Amino acid sequence: MKYTLQVHTGSWHETLDSPENIARKIGEAASRIPADSVIIGWNTDPAYYREAAAVLRGSGILMLLWLPVFSEANRIAGTDGAEDIFGKPAGMPDERSGESFVFDCPSSRHNIRAVEGLYEKFFSDCGFDGVFLDRIRTQSFAAGVSGVLSCGCGRCRKAFLERGVDLQAVRERYELKRDAFFDMASWPADGRFEPEDELARRFFEAKEEIIAAAAADICGYFKDRGMTVGLDLFAPAVSRLVGQHYAKITERADFIKPMLYRRTEAPAGIGYEYALFEKHAPAARGRGKPAPDRAFLDAQLDAAKAALCDVYPGIEINYDRDTVRTDAGYITESLAAVRDRGFERAVLCWDVATAPEAHIEAVSRFEKDADQKEGIG
Ligand SMILES: [Zn+2]
Repeated sequence: MKYTLQVHTGSWHETLDSPENIARKIGEAASRIPADSVIIGWNTDPAYYREAAAVLRGSGILMLLWLPVFSEANRIAGTDGAEDIFGKPAGMPDERSGESFVFDCPSSRHNIRAVEGLYEKFFSDCGFDGVFLDRIRTQSFAAGVSGVLSCGCGRCRKAFLERGVDLQAVRERYELKRDAFFDMASWPADGRFEPEDELARRFFEAKEEIIAAAAADICGYFKDRGMTVGLDLFAPAVSRLVGQHYAKITERADFIKPMLYRRTEAPAGIGYEYALFEKHAPAARGRGKPAPDRAFLDAQLDAAKAALCDVYPGIEINYDRDTVRTDAGYITESLAAVRDRGFERAVLCWDVATAPEAHIEAVSRFEKDADQKEGIG
């Protein structure tokens, strides 16, 4: 298989390591793993990209900018914040990851133009071949019911109404039914759950359309510049909670990376997001139960094929004792599933630069073993 390496730099002004060290680690990983592209996180210091480009020069490896859309931009640009349907700001600091995860309104064209402005100001001269757009979604149960039932600002009230959904009625229905608002008639493994409540069902449908329209808008901006555009998506099992419909959101994208994170105890981790649903709507009936096993991963990989563009499954390879307890066996199992379900590429997430040596080695060995088998066959 081919690989995309994902590297986190910190954030706009925060740094995890120096530009030289991060570039060196990218070079080392690329010398051992058959990579043809690297996704590098957002930082206002152009040295990160200059150093990386120097290491990658002549290798044919493409450099993509990891750019968050409806959160993070608000830390350095004036944006329209998201609200819940109860009239309060949606989103709050995530205690475990320490990241802000305060979200912006997905219907605001001003927000999209603000992100494009950040690209022009900080990154347009850095030699990127493409962008990898993250957080094109609403908040999840990470911000409680309020996060999932957003955005409810004036702009979004209008956008929902145009799609036949009155958010005031949604609020009243939720206040009447509470947890039962989220009762599910079905929740298949692909995450296309069907709420029993007709209004709840139409709310989730309309939210997906609003998020898809925002994705098409910002994808268009980068496509017009001749750039490759990728999207970071929640795994199918939990994607509907945040308004990500795999077919609708991918109309203008070149590729997606489903975050098939079975070991992540932080936002976007499948078990983590599911447990938050349980926590914030404990009496809701008919909820699916994702198991962190291989069969579940196979189902997620198959569901991701609903996308209208290329699918590059994303597997965590960095390690943290509290938030991402990966190991070499987990990585090898995940890569085998990706290959066996017919994919030709995986993304090694979300920080190759801090991944343990044993994890880089596990990927390298997985590829050597595959080459050997091919040689024998
Ligand atoms: Zn809004």
